[in-house]
Amino acid sequence: MSVTGLCQVCERAAATASCDRCGAVVCADHYDRDRGLCADCGAAGG
Ligand SMILES: [Zn+2]
Ligand SMILES: [Zn+2]
Repeated sequence: MSVTGLCQVCERAAATASCDRCGAVVCADHYDRDRGLCADCGAAGG
């Protein structure tokens, strides 16, 4: 999978993955690989 652009959570680091739930592109720091969710979705639960 190829992702381009900046992380939509911190808007500082390059995005490396996209959230399975909301589709946001996020950097490694803001992506939960186990769940496939961005930090926002992971924090929201579900
Ligand atoms: Zn980030
Ligand atoms: Zn998300």
